[in-house]
Amino acid sequence: MPNKMPNKMPKKIRLSKSLARKTVQQRLAAARKGRAAQVKGLARDRQAADRKANLGELPQWTTAEIAEAFRRFAAANPTPRGELAHINPFTLLVAVVLSAQATDAGVNKATPALFKLADTPEKMVKLGEARLRDLIKTIGLYRTKAKNVIALSKRLIEEHSGQVPHDREALEALAGVGRKTANVVLNIAFGEPTIAVDTHIFRVGNRTGLATGKTPLEVEMKLLAVVPEQYRLHAHHWLILHGRYVCVARRPLCEKCVIADLCKWPGKVVNSPVQIGNANK
Ligand code: SF4
Repeated sequence: MPNKMPNKMPKKIRLSKSLARKTVQQRLAAARKGRAAQVKGLARDRQAADRKANLGELPQWTTAEIAEAFRRFAAANPTPRGELAHINPFTLLVAVVLSAQATDAGVNKATPALFKLADTPEKMVKLGEARLRDLIKTIGLYRTKAKNVIALSKRLIEEHSGQVPHDREALEALAGVGRKTANVVLNIAFGEPTIAVDTHIFRVGNRTGLATGKTPLEVEMKLLAVVPEQYRLHAHHWLILHGRYVCVARRPLCEKCVIADLCKWPGKVVNSPVQIGNANK
């Protein structure tokens, strides 16, 4: 067959065609080794499984399954702790406000120096917004957060004698504090059995079928309704830790999961739970 390609193509076009050919060849080579096809297939399956879970199409857990899941979480980690460093209710409140759309690890890098200078609302106001901004500038949205922390500190002094109130409404009236932050403070500082639904708990609730919902509030309400009372105080931490370290977003570590047999996610890759003693290996 005569080659129909013109002999002299513009340099730019020849270059891009050769690059495109190379990419196709590389892709074919990877696919022949079974790599590309395998990885893409699994990722697609996982996405489809998550879509199904997010539509609330998974079977509901039975009461016995829910109790068994929390029995195992409790056996693996009897006293789970939050990972935000703090030294009193005020520094906890500030740390949670700073952690919005940021990682706990990132917040923990900035707060030791901050809390050394300001561990009370009075000291925070004295520190001032400019200095605070400088101390937390490694954290996302630091300008708005600095404004909020100064505003909430002033309000705590004016309306609550400098104390963090043990009251949801009063907490949610503070600058930068929403339902999730109030739940964390009520749970950790005051020992209330609240469940703060963050991105990890939202994913775990929907993905496993434990508590499905379209909004964090919906998932929170379902969790409060189904988690047995004796596990409610620590449920928040168990589920966050499970979502952060095992049931992670992109590639859940089902082979390290203590509730793999109970989980309803169609994309899970194993069906038998890891033994409790091996959960962190
Ligand atoms: S088996 Fe465990 S890690 Fe895997 S999706 Fe279910 S809960 Fe998540």
